[in-house]
Amino acid sequence: MFRSGVTSAARAVTKSSPISVETMAAASTTGRRVPLWGTGGQDCATTPAMPNKTTVTTISAGRRSFHTTFIRSSGASAAWAATPAPSGAAAASTAESATAQEDGQDTIPGTSIRVFRTVAGLRAWRRQQLLAGRTVGLVPTMGALHEGHMDLVRAAAGDNDAVVVTIYVNPTQFGVHEDLGSYPRTWEADGKALAGVQSSLKGTAKGKIEAVFAPTTAEMYPSGPPSQEVNGHGSFVTITPVGQLLEGASRPTFFRGVATVCMKLFHIVQPETAYFGQKDVQQTVVLRRMVRDFAIPLKLVVGTTVREQPDGLALSSRNVYLGTRRRAVANVLRRSLLAAEAAAVSDPSLTHDQILAAAHRVADETLAAQKQLPPHERALFEIDYLSLSEADTMEELKGDQQVDRAKGAILSGAVRMLPVEDPQPGEDLGHSSGPLVRLIDNIIIEPKEN
Ligand code: AMP
Repeated sequence: MFRSGVTSAARAVTKSSPISVETMAAASTTGRRVPLWGTGGQDCATTPAMPNKTTVTTISAGRRSFHTTFIRSSGASAAWAATPAPSGAAAASTAESATAQEDGQDTIPGTSIRVFRTVAGLRAWRRQQLLAGRTVGLVPTMGALHEGHMDLVRAAAGDNDAVVVTIYVNPTQFGVHEDLGSYPRTWEADGKALAGVQSSLKGTAKGKIEAVFAPTTAEMYPSGPPSQEVNGHGSFVTITPVGQLLEGASRPTFFRGVATVCMKLFHIVQPETAYFGQKDVQQTVVLRRMVRDFAIPLKLVVGTTVREQPDGLALSSRNVYLGTRRRAVANVLRRSLLAAEAAAVSDPSLTHDQILAAAHRVADETLAAQKQLPPHERALFEIDYLSLSEADTMEELKGDQQVDRAKGAILSGAVRMLPVEDPQPGEDLGHSSGPLVRLIDNIIIEPKEN
């Protein structure tokens, strides 16, 4: 892995450790049916992190359909309203009395997609699917849905009878100084996006979205708020060494949080298949390892990265932070990785260091060009790392090592888009006034058969 600052000075190469072939191209583990593992959990949902909104209710087909679904109750706790047309204090107390039995009666507006807030409610629904012999596909998300998420939903609907989309901003995967507080939460827009994809599935897919699971943190972590500190306590799943490399080196609690929440979602939803995006390639390697090592009876499917056009920036919920000025430069990582890929493909004798040098050249040239501009026009960035790693372990190739064509490899990287200098009056700085934004991307060098 090359880690570099603005001048790409600090370059460190980690050891390579060839293990078994388990490339990203092989997107599945087992496809066995999943027995339910019992029900349980809590009766009542409380929601700490939802916007303060009035609830407007309509009745549709015997279920409540909420236009605006979250109401804030006292303190840090807000809850899902489970009775028609509550408002104000009455709404809050009604919401607090919501139980798992009532859970799932609410729907995404204009659809029959049920919204579950409790583990018990979701499990009761899941059990019905099992008894009816219906397969379930799971698409875990943190909301702020975009076309990348929708692609996974479409894939899940193509393969399964019922799709569960989870929308949960998981605190344990955010570091203490990261953007948990400002992470975009766009419940209404998410509902509309799901309604849109649902109608596009009609007649074209095997199944459809049946449920959204949007639990509270109290529901997901019943023993109390989990620690975001590196040495914090809690019930965590850690997958090492892969979870400590690359993204894990920059964000030491990230994969612990991801593995923990996915383990929980896998237990709760018990899908036959779970869908993840290649955009977060290391996440898929970590989760595949978790599924194998813990003998979790599900199949992982990885969907290709969906990109913005025309410049190929990977879609990300965090792109909203960029604003116009940084957005114009933000595809530097994509262009750097493409340069490395072109080098690797055009000359198989090139080594790790030579391949990544092609990527660093693009990043360095882009930065030099930005530095020529006056402060009020430029967008500066730091390359966090550029990496060429083994596909199955994400262990860095050695500096003088060539890509093993039979195994393939993964080019990946992260860039920190720094807050803009000298913001101009009325300038579009992006969500939350344009804080530092860390973007990731990758390209898989596919294995070649001889
Ligand atoms: P997130 O909401 O960012 O946690 O992402 C939820 C899922 O969507 C993860 O499996 C991501 O890898 C996937 N995803 C995010 N962005 C993209 C994208 N641009 N293309 C494909 N999948 C994506």
